[in-house]
Amino acid sequence: MSADCIFCKIVAGQIPSSKVYEDEHVFAFHDIGPQAPVHVLVIPKKHLASVSEMTGEDSVWLEHAFAAIRQIAKELGVSETGFRVITNTGKDSGQVVNHLHFHVLGGRTLGPLA
Ligand code: 5GP
Ligand code: ZN
Repeated sequence: MSADCIFCKIVAGQIPSSKVYEDEHVFAFHDIGPQAPVHVLVIPKKHLASVSEMTGEDSVWLEHAFAAIRQIAKELGVSETGFRVITNTGKDSGQVVNHLHFHVLGGRTLGPLA
């Protein structure tokens, strides 16, 4: 837990969120400013700032996150229609929250990237 991290506070229940999934390793909730009919944020419970700050040992969190993403996509009905997974990293990407998170977007045809 990072004391000044809003996503750590969401995991801890100190900031409310609309939870869609939780297990031992992963927490997922609806984005507060959805960009598509399905816009969920999937985060590791461990505070990792971004892809750039991960080490090899942290890769296990990717397995947990993507297992959750598959399940969430099924539950929200976009597994067959398709969805996009995005993780912003650093300034040029527009990353705002410095806790590793995967945007899961779907429910409509998504435009080109960038
Ligand atoms: P980033 O630009 O860092 O990849 O995306 C951060 C995302 O977190 C944004 O899409 C923003 O709408 C979302 N977000 C920021 N604060 C909150 C919050 O307090 N609750 C929820 N549910 N989403 C948030
Ligand atoms: Zn955090």
